[in-house]
Amino acid sequence: MGDREPQPSGGLTVRVRIRGRDQRPEQQKHWPQEPQEAPEAQAEEVPPVAAEAPTPPAAVPEVSEAPEVSEDPVTVADEMYEDVSTPAVEVPEPSPPPRVHPQRAPVDWSDVPEPDPGADTAYVPRPVPRIMAVANQKGGVGKTTTAVNLGAGLAEIGFRVLVIDLDPQGNATTGLGIDGRSFELSMYDVVMRDAKLEDAIEPTSIKNLFVAPATIDLAGAEIELVPTFSRELKLRRALESVIGDFDYILIDCPPSLGLITVNGLAAADEVLVPIQCEYYALEGLGQLLRNVHLVQANLNEKLEVTTIVLTMYDGRTKLAEQVAEEVRTHFGNKVCRNVIPRTVRISEAPSFGQPITTFDPSSRGAIAYRELAKEVSGGAS
Ligand code: ADP
Ligand code: MG
Repeated sequence: MGDREPQPSGGLTVRVRIRGRDQRPEQQKHWPQEPQEAPEAQAEEVPPVAAEAPTPPAAVPEVSEAPEVSEDPVTVADEMYEDVSTPAVEVPEPSPPPRVHPQRAPVDWSDVPEPDPGADTAYVPRPVPRIMAVANQKGGVGKTTTAVNLGAGLAEIGFRVLVIDLDPQGNATTGLGIDGRSFELSMYDVVMRDAKLEDAIEPTSIKNLFVAPATIDLAGAEIELVPTFSRELKLRRALESVIGDFDYILIDCPPSLGLITVNGLAAADEVLVPIQCEYYALEGLGQLLRNVHLVQANLNEKLEVTTIVLTMYDGRTKLAEQVAEEVRTHFGNKVCRNVIPRTVRISEAPSFGQPITTFDPSSRGAIAYRELAKEVSGGAS
């Protein structure tokens, strides 16, 4: 493995300004499903008069055209980040007025090409080494769970796997049994202090599985990075020296589209998007895809969304089925056939510092992640 060529790097800081950021469409509104399908809490909120006098929804605004690009000397990344001066907390929208007619959660699919109906619908694995950013700006959709457990599944097959924890919450770190006080260097030191990535990598209790840990310090990097040179490419540069040592590098991104996530996307070849099969699951997906396209156009032309993983699938609900169907219609063979079920055991495993594959090896969750690892990798190592 040591003879692999490092990935090419390049001076990719592009100086352009994108106009029209203030003309972004208002966030699209999502209306509840018909009462029997809506989550209980929502159904309870429906006032009794709702069925008699439904209020029509405000028109969903059209998506604005692609932003115009000019030559002003501002890095393009400025346009992709959330305002770092405000905390990246999602302010919940006020509940929309109840509706009588069921309606799917509207999603902006304009960035997603329609799949070719004649094409093979099976997921197409790529050759190793693979660098995959596990990204979705929504929190709690299964990014960390997928990075940890897919990583463990791949390691079980025999691949050498590195999970890079880019989330200041450090859930991938602790979920892989690494105590926050037991290591000297973290991803903060790598990104902000130019520490060598290889010096930050820790072995886990699982053979072939390694983690580059994160601590809460990384939260500061989001702001501290702003004035630094090549701030979008810190991780990419750091990865160059370790790329030959691993078959899979899974980058667990934080739940935002800020500079840390942009570092993750700029360093990866592929984006793996976990999608939670639940209400509002598809909200924000268009924004994520637009950001991926911006990074691709300006920082990392190899970047591509290759892998969609449906997580927390509850086969008893019609909604999960609907979400899965809609995602498959739009993403075709990028969607893995293996879906991850919602199970209590998966959510318990991190508190024991273990992936589900060792915490409860014969559980449904362990089997699902093992099968996913086979599918993503194409089988044998
Ligand atoms: P993210 O990294 O996107 O914020 P996590 O992977 O941390 O999301 O998952 C959010 C929460 O959901 C965690 O408590 C996790 O244990 C739980 N969880 C994730 N996947 C599953 C699953 N398949 N079944 C049950 N709980 C899950
Ligand atoms: Mg996470």
